[in-house]
Amino acid sequence: MEQEFVVRLLETRQVTHNVKRFRMEKPEGYSFRPGQATDVCVNRPGWQNERRPFTFTCLTDDPYLEFTIKRYPDHHGVTDLLHQLEPGDELLLHDVWGAIDYRGPGCFIAGGAGITPFLAILRELRRTGMAAGNTLYFSNRTAGDVIQEDELRGILGDGAHFILSREIRGGYEYGRIDQGFLTRNVKNFKQPFYICGPDEMVKDVAGLLEGMGASAEGLVFEK
Ligand SMILES: Cc1cc2nc3c(=O)[nH]c(=O)nc-3n(C[C@H](O)[C@H](O)[C@H](O)COP(=O)(O)OP(=O)(O)OC[C@H]3O[C@@H](n4cnc5c(N)ncnc54)[C@H](O)[C@@H]3O)c2cc1C
Repeated sequence: MEQEFVVRLLETRQVTHNVKRFRMEKPEGYSFRPGQATDVCVNRPGWQNERRPFTFTCLTDDPYLEFTIKRYPDHHGVTDLLHQLEPGDELLLHDVWGAIDYRGPGCFIAGGAGITPFLAILRELRRTGMAAGNTLYFSNRTAGDVIQEDELRGILGDGAHFILSREIRGGYEYGRIDQGFLTRNVKNFKQPFYICGPDEMVKDVAGLLEGMGASAEGLVFEK
């Protein structure tokens, strides 16, 4: 039987113009692996069955749970409501799920809010001093959309690359993560590739990497 946990929101913080960090109570015995997610509801009449998946971005042994959530205001859906909540408001959490996990040093490719499983993994790697040898290609529309840029640069140094699709700006690469980009930037197709972002991007990038020599087992993404 699936479990449901009622937790209180402890703190929110704006991360970008449309992304917020949410910290909340952690139920006794609740555990997850970096990269995993759970279904979240707002505990208000009419919303208790509106489940949406979000990825934990805290460390596994933090005393709270944390999500980093992008708002889609024009849907008037769950993310819009979440962004209006205040400390003390209640959420419903469920069982933990997800296929993304760390399988050794490799290449992380993220689009927008797709960075969240990698934030969890990279934060855990920083904590254990194991982040070296990983590379990140993080694609966003503009520099203002990039989630936790300073932190990611701090963890990966020269291994962190930021690509903008709608803005030309010093310190960032410009364009899309397409075949040309991968050919220029990726030399080792034997390493694990971790891919997360809009469905279309994940499908395209995974297909391109396989065509370029990556093995299907070396591609880690939410199926
Ligand atoms: C495993 C997993 C983990 C995730 N982790 C995170 C995370 O950590 N952080 C995060 O920010 N997101 C995450 N997401 C995405 C997140 O679940 C969605 O953004 C969220 O469900 C949207 O809920 P909503 O009620 O606001 O939007 P909904 O109204 O439910 O919309 C859901 C989807 O429908 C489409 N859609 C519906 N209405 C419109 C509209 N008017 N215009 C354009 N498109 C529309 C969009 O594609 C949208 O993403 C994750 C998704 C998965 C599958």
